[in-house]
This record gives sequence, C-alpha cells and structure tokens, in this order.
Amino acid sequence: MKINLNMKTFFIETWGCQMNRHDSELIEGQLRRHGLAPAGAARDADLVVLNTCSVREKPVQKIISRIGYLAKQNPLTTIGVCGCVAEQEAGSLLERSRSVGFVIGPGQTTRIGEAVRAVSQGERPILTGFDAEAEYNYHTIFRKSTTRGMVTVIEGCNEFCTFCIVPYTRGREVSRPLDQVLAEVRLLASDGVKEVELLGQTINAYRCPDSGADLAQLLEKVASVDGLLRVRFITSHPRHFDQDLIDVLASHRNVFRYLHLPIQSGSDEILKRMHRKYTRQEYLDLVGRIRKAAPEINLSTDIIVGFPGETEADFEDTMELLEEVRFGQVFAFGFSPRPKTPAARYRPQISDAVKSARLQRLFGRCDEISRELNHALVGRSIQVLIDGPSRRDPEHWQGRGEDNRVVNFPRCGREEIGDVVEVEIRRAGAHSLVGMIVGGAVRLPTVSNG
Ligand code: SF4
Repeated sequence: MKINLNMKTFFIETWGCQMNRHDSELIEGQLRRHGLAPAGAARDADLVVLNTCSVREKPVQKIISRIGYLAKQNPLTTIGVCGCVAEQEAGSLLERSRSVGFVIGPGQTTRIGEAVRAVSQGERPILTGFDAEAEYNYHTIFRKSTTRGMVTVIEGCNEFCTFCIVPYTRGREVSRPLDQVLAEVRLLASDGVKEVELLGQTINAYRCPDSGADLAQLLEKVASVDGLLRVRFITSHPRHFDQDLIDVLASHRNVFRYLHLPIQSGSDEILKRMHRKYTRQEYLDLVGRIRKAAPEINLSTDIIVGFPGETEADFEDTMELLEEVRFGQVFAFGFSPRPKTPAARYRPQISDAVKSARLQRLFGRCDEISRELNHALVGRSIQVLIDGPSRRDPEHWQGRGEDNRVVNFPRCGREEIGDVVEVEIRRAGAHSLVGMIVGGAVRLPTVSNG
C-alpha cells in the first residue's frame, strides 16, 4: 500500500479529555503553520490525525479498527497517531498498518510539523518520551471557539493511582511559568474570549518553576485579568486542595461555581488500594469546607465501579457517599485494566455482570439526585453564556450557567454567541435546564476584575 507523501489537507479526530481536545488545537495550529489546510471530512483528507486516549475501555483495539476503516475508505490517506495510545504502543502501530505514517506521544505534540516533513521524505517517524525543555508556543495554537479558551498550566502527573496509565503516557508533572500562563490568558482576554479554562491532570499540584507560586496564587492573578468573565480549572486532586485555593474560589465571583473533584470510590479500603492518598472522611471534610465558603457550588466527580476486590459493602460505601455529597454530575466507569498499572494484576477482578449491575444502580441514583438539584433551580434566573445553537432545535440557544449547568432557551433576536443573557429556568431534567430570556443580552467587552 502506498500512502500520500505530499500532504496538503488534514482532518483531526479527538478522543478523551479536555487535555486531548486542547492538544488537538495545538496540532491544528502546527499543521496550518506547515501549510496544510483543513478538510471537511476524514475521507477527503491527505492526512488524518487520530489524537487518542487510553484511559477508557479497549483503546488500542478501537484505534486499530479506526485505522483499518480509514485506510479502506481512502487507501492514499496518511494516518498520524498522536496522544496516549501513541505513547503506549509506539512502533507497534507502524507494524500493524502501512497507512500509519507517524506516531507522536503527548510530550512531543509540538513536533508534528517535523513529522509531516519526514513523511514527505519517505520516513515513518516515532516521536515519544518527554522533554521538559520542549518549546511551547501558545501563539501557534488554533482555537476554534472565540468564547472559551483552554490554557495548559501543568502537564503530566506524579500521583500513580494504581489504575491509571496517565503518568506513563503523559509523564511526570511539569508546570509552566506563571508569567507565561498569565501572558496567554491576557492575550485570550484581549481577543474577546470570555471564559478561560485552566488545564492540568492534577492542576492543584501546580508550582511555578520560577517563583514557586501555587495554583491559588496563579488563580488569583488570572481571575484579576480585565475582560475575563469566567475562569475555571480542571482537574483537582482532593489531596492538593488547600484552604488558600478555597479562599480564592470564594473571593472571586468570576471563578466558576463548578468544581470537578474525583473521589473514585467511597470505600477507604478501595481508596487505599487505588493509592489515592486521602480517606473518605478527608474528602467529605474538604467538600464541607468548599461548600461553607461557596454554598452555591456545583460539584462533579469520577467514580470507578468494580475496582479489583470491591465488595458489596465497598460499593454501598460509594452509594452512601452519593447521598452525603449530592453531586450535580457523576462520570462513572466500570474498572478496566490498563497495561503497566498495578491494578491490572490485582485480584480478585470483578465480573462484567457485577460491574454493569452496580453501574446501572449508581447511574440511576445519580440521575435522580441531579434531577432533584436541577428542579430546585426552577423559577430562578441565572446568567448564561451562549455557546451556540441547541443541538436539538436551531431556533434555541444552548449555553452554560456559572455552575456549568447546560441551559437551552428560545432565541430572542438580538443576542449572539458569546453574549451573556439572564435566563429564567422553567423546566429541569437530569442533565439540562430549559428557560426563557428575561433580560437583554449583556456584552461585557471591558470587565474590570482588578
Ligand atoms: S491523579 Fe491518579 S487518576 Fe488522575 S491522572 Fe494522576 S494517576 Fe491518573
């Protein structure tokens, strides 16, 4: 099979988390810089980049079957594999398919232009590993949204939870200098971006390599940038969430009233085997302190069901924790072993039937709780940042409130994407709210946060 060496167009497919979505913006910026133009669909592209994730179920099989499908659809397409599966599988991906032109791990994303050049000279480069000195040029990031902007503040993870592959695929923690992050945020704000999302796998482990400043200090500065309507940060590790961070959250109204705080399990025994380094009670105490400082905060979490050795009693501990915390949203998954991770070897593994029965029960209760929490908002007016047309009805807008809840509402006429409108909530489901605009559109070109 002969692949396309002279690539002029590209298409990117992205799996996984916010970090991956942001890496795809980085990849797109680099490809445009190297003269490639975006194609409307994978079948029309000379280069298809698969930006992969290996956190969830059967990632390698999914990527292999996608490569097979794309190669069959257009035998001349060059496929580039990026992301966590690239780091994990490296050269084996080149062996499995002649259509794969290059493999680039998350630590080498900025070198994609170099890889494209190498392919055009008949090479099949593998760029993996981590280089703390790697050049990071945020000016080349291609951002699709003019309303929201993602900004990486820390890469990698040092936690080594026993189920997780991220420290192996994304390497150890490397924080960006505070001044560089701030310059990028200021640039976004001056371009009219209303909401900035600070990203890191364990974002509250952030330490500025120059000054030693922590996330609370960084957040304080970011929240004070003029023009920024909202600031959010994801993902926080409970053991690094200190009082200074809570204080900044409470004292800056433009810091999002939403927090993703993964618990993973409500059982102390399972938390210990996961190597999470906090107890159930410590997590509950933290939630109590956060809610005392910012009572309206909407909390979401991650839960793994069926971790090796999870008994019915352990699972009941998780179900009880749901009642105590009452999360607005829960991302729950059945445990699936990842190569290299200790939990892949733990015994006993839990059967798929037990995992799916527990998951079903958990989802059922989570939906009831989020429906109850959403119902409590009916009749209230909230500020909604308009993201774009609703997926179900183009005559309606979709946006998010200050607590990250999705709100759908009919268009009024004058408002645009990126405007903030006041919406009165009329109906509530488990996953979204429906309302009506009650005030005019608010455009905030010069919000002063100083
Ligand atoms: S904190 Fe744990 S789950 Fe999160 S990325 Fe690090 S190792 Fe993975």
